[in-house]
Amino acid sequence: MNTLVWVEHDNSAVKEATLSAVTAASQLGEVHLLVAGSGCDGVAQAAAQIAGVEKVHLADSPVYANALAENVAPLIVDLMGHHDAFVAPSTSNGKNIAPRVAALLDIMQVSDILSIEGPKTFTRPTYAGNAIATVESGDAKLVVTVRGTAFAKAAASGGSGMVEAIPTGGDAGLSSFVGAEIAKLERPDLTSAKVIVSGGRALKDGPTFEQVIFPLADKLGAAVGASRAAVDAGYVPNDYQVGQTGKIVAPEVYIAVGISGAIQHLAGMKDSKTIIAINKDEDAPIFQVADIGLVGDLFNVVPELTGKL
Ligand code: FAD
Repeated sequence: MNTLVWVEHDNSAVKEATLSAVTAASQLGEVHLLVAGSGCDGVAQAAAQIAGVEKVHLADSPVYANALAENVAPLIVDLMGHHDAFVAPSTSNGKNIAPRVAALLDIMQVSDILSIEGPKTFTRPTYAGNAIATVESGDAKLVVTVRGTAFAKAAASGGSGMVEAIPTGGDAGLSSFVGAEIAKLERPDLTSAKVIVSGGRALKDGPTFEQVIFPLADKLGAAVGASRAAVDAGYVPNDYQVGQTGKIVAPEVYIAVGISGAIQHLAGMKDSKTIIAINKDEDAPIFQVADIGLVGDLFNVVPELTGKL
């Protein structure tokens, strides 16, 4: 089986989520990659070094500069003539492109897979991760998105794939790129951080959130996350949100401060290796998933902890 993996990149470097997708694809068959972008030869060369990659299809054209799904999907559909499976990371862009590919191929998509149980059998979360469904596709070809936290990252080097330039398509004329406002983070990125400190509604307001959570995160070299309640109340921007409708994370250590542990929050962090919860309510549901729980007032406990680090 030939599998085609869409490479997420910014025209200069491969994004890490691609590496988990490559690991998943390698369990399905021979791994080919698609690098579609503009001035992205360097990305294709780097992608060819990813362990286990046999071939890199390079589509270099201004129409792919911003990964507009409407332009990239037809390119993938052409390549699916000689591939059996299309694999994309479950990132915003991957989730934008893959369903279009599935629709154009008139097959179903298997979304957000957690494991591969057979040639066309997968597990995936359902009910916000409270149940794991085993699903089997009956289609001749597969379109799959991969939950990054469920698959180890393929080594970024050690491979020796061949790079092959392919014909590019035109602009589908269905969408245009207007602009991007990318937040500049002073701390590690949430989805790749080894340690995350997250704050909840209990933090009261934005300045208090900063005063209590940021110093602890900085002492630990951690990324900062938040519950949806904290985001909705405007304490921090919404790209901090962890959960079902936020980011899915699985760091080595996740510290939940003043977060109750609603299922929608747990859906985004319960695969973390060690969960530490700080909450004044000993019955808070977060303690059911926590490896270490501290019952206390966060306004006393967190500054004390930060001071001792
Ligand atoms: P609360 O539930 O209000 O909890 C605050 C906690 O702080 C309590 O446990 C309290 O005991 C504790 N506390 C208060 N004061 C102190 C103190 N001084 N010291 C220590 N502890 C204190 N939520 C997400 O987080 N992410 C999502 O992606 C998400 N998606 C959703 C999608 C849908 C469709 C829906 C319906 C909801 C979603 N939610 C999501 C919201 C979710 O249901 C909860 O409302 C939210 O997670 C609650 O946030 P919280 O734990 O910060 O606030």
